[in-house]
Amino acid sequence: MRNAPTILHLDMDAFFASVEQASKPSLRGKAVVVGGIGPRGVVATASYEARVFGVHSAMPTAQARRLAPNAAYLTPRFALYRSISDQVMALLRQLSPLVEPLSLDEAFVDLEAGDAARDEASAREAGARLRADIRAVTGLTGSVGLAASKMLAKIASERAKPDGLVLIEPGTERALLSPMPVRTLPGVGPATGDHLRRAGITTVLDLSEAGEDELVRLLGKAHGHALYAMALARDDRPVVAEREAKSVSVEDTYAVDIHDRLRIGLEVRRLADRCVRRLRGAGLSGRTIVLKVRRYDFSTLTRSETLRGPTDDPTVIREAAARLLDSVDTTGGVRLLGVGVSGLADYTQEDLFAQAAGEPAEETPEEGVPDFGPERPEPAAPEWRAGQDVRHPEYGHGWVQGSGLGRVTVRFETPLSAPGRVRTFRSDEAGLEPADPLPLVAQVEAAVEGETEDGMRG
Ligand SMILES: [Mg+2]
Repeated sequence: MRNAPTILHLDMDAFFASVEQASKPSLRGKAVVVGGIGPRGVVATASYEARVFGVHSAMPTAQARRLAPNAAYLTPRFALYRSISDQVMALLRQLSPLVEPLSLDEAFVDLEAGDAARDEASAREAGARLRADIRAVTGLTGSVGLAASKMLAKIASERAKPDGLVLIEPGTERALLSPMPVRTLPGVGPATGDHLRRAGITTVLDLSEAGEDELVRLLGKAHGHALYAMALARDDRPVVAEREAKSVSVEDTYAVDIHDRLRIGLEVRRLADRCVRRLRGAGLSGRTIVLKVRRYDFSTLTRSETLRGPTDDPTVIREAAARLLDSVDTTGGVRLLGVGVSGLADYTQEDLFAQAAGEPAEETPEEGVPDFGPERPEPAAPEWRAGQDVRHPEYGHGWVQGSGLGRVTVRFETPLSAPGRVRTFRSDEAGLEPADPLPLVAQVEAAVEGETEDGMRG
């Protein structure tokens, strides 16, 4: 482990919700929940105002609605989040070639590798400057943790939230960690936490005092060793610029080749739903949908489609898989089908282990049953989603606040305007149309473009 606090962890504050509040003046200071709106939707991000009611990421949206019935519930606008994420990551790449993104709004940076800092004072200065630059370029706040290891830098940024900077001085790590709950350490989810508690281990100090042999006995060799090292604040993991390409996929092999095109379509749909459950169980979303087809003659095809932003929406993934299937000739029959999602982002911003442990909620009542419910009818009028940007020829730019029963309610305001008025229209109102998001920060737009390009080239 190095002896200067030159590993930086950046975590944007309540990222998706903050973007929505920056876009929509009427939501500033209000409870905002971004996530899946459907019956099985989960919360991606809650604003700090919504967290007061106990709403948090990965919670079913239905539960969030009971806790915070008056919050604004918005569907994610991933293309916008990604474009802002690109701006933030470009600022990080100006600091160092070693930037390791963990999700759209979170990354490690090795300041030493970029000569951006070599000691405590220069690290603190680089962190403070980064926070100011992020605010100037995006209009949003991010919290910064600085420490001599990745684990401690991440713990530091968590303590800095919201809108702060915390630096952990080398040499103070163990004293700082000792009283913390075991769940603070990476890889300790609810299940491991319970297991340790039953053994009388609740704090990091308890872990180090239990000793390595006892932890190995309780948790197995790999996990026990790793946890003991972390309890002693030993973490030598380097910041790695490239993340391994990961994907989540499911496939089925059939005892008898399937010939019926309708049945193949239903199987693909079922696989897409299973893939979504895995994806959500791991707290992930992805941009690239992959379909795999092995035909009667064992020839195997893969087809893929990349979306504008990551999704875990079953409808979107089902539809993409169905489009991919359209391009595959299945005459002669198929013996294997698979659906996968890659280009992953852990957009729920939560500890992955914690989510995996909380997963079993969605165990598949309909597994194996060929009835997938009624097809969604073609909407006669455009389908308006809560939070979506729209434009009206008379009232200008706004966003959909709600829709249903043939009506759509729009609030007309822009990121730079005062809170705007609400108007209700018939959902087929002439001239009301989807619009692109407006920039959150107007004046530096030109400068940002240049910086982003330079950063990406480097
Ligand atoms: Mg965050």
